Amino acid sequence: MNLELLYMKPKEITLNTQHNNNKISFTDDEIGNEHISTSVDTPMKPDAFVLSDEEKQKKIEFHFREIMETLGLDLTDDSLNGTPHRVAKMYIKEIFSGLNPDNKPKIALFENKYQYNQMLVEKDITFYSNCEHHFVPIFGKAHVAYISNGKVIGLSKLNRIVQYFSKRPQVQERLTVQIAKELQSILETEDVAVVIDAKHLCVSSRGVQDNNSATVTSFYGGKFSQESTRQEFLKYVEMKTNY
Ligand SMILES: [Zn+2]
Repeated sequence: MNLELLYMKPKEITLNTQHNNNKISFTDDEIGNEHISTSVDTPMKPDAFVLSDEEKQKKIEFHFREIMETLGLDLTDDSLNGTPHRVAKMYIKEIFSGLNPDNKPKIALFENKYQYNQMLVEKDITFYSNCEHHFVPIFGKAHVAYISNGKVIGLSKLNRIVQYFSKRPQVQERLTVQIAKELQSILETEDVAVVIDAKHLCVSSRGVQDNNSATVTSFYGGKFSQESTRQEFLKYVEMKTNY
């Protein structure tokens, strides 16, 4: 066992998402040339919703069976036989359900009756997504914040918005910006911050096989672009809780 590895501090790759003209540019080479995303919107074909969910599930099941058979697996084995069906169902109903706008959470806005116009932070939102370059998991914590402009939403809705955009093939930078833009639009304010701290299985379980690295992405809109506001937000995120 290499002791040095044990005591090595987790490496962080910090990417400040720059979103000029709807393009995301990468500032760190380490993430690899293959990790390039092209736009803030998930690239979808114009006919993405011509097939129903049931039709898509049947088609994926057929093709996943082909993949498994090509790998040489014996699909008559009891343990493997149901896998194509399970994978197809999981893709459509669970892990990629956020591709379908019908599944977008319906968000009701409330008047801010308490006159609470300070920062509201919802931190440590656990999410599971999948890397669009390798189709293996990305998972971690999202921290979101906004400063109310007279309107508020239920706390659980912040969580739901994170989950909705996570359930797509993603790159972390796009996920960060999609959550932020959605909150800005719903809350009718620029004053939104999103920080995502995540682990990519395509980095830790294959490729460079780096088990210690984490990727941090951030979006700071409106008042959060001021240093003091940003620091206040980060202080709450780092605050230890004893419950
Ligand atoms: Zn990947």
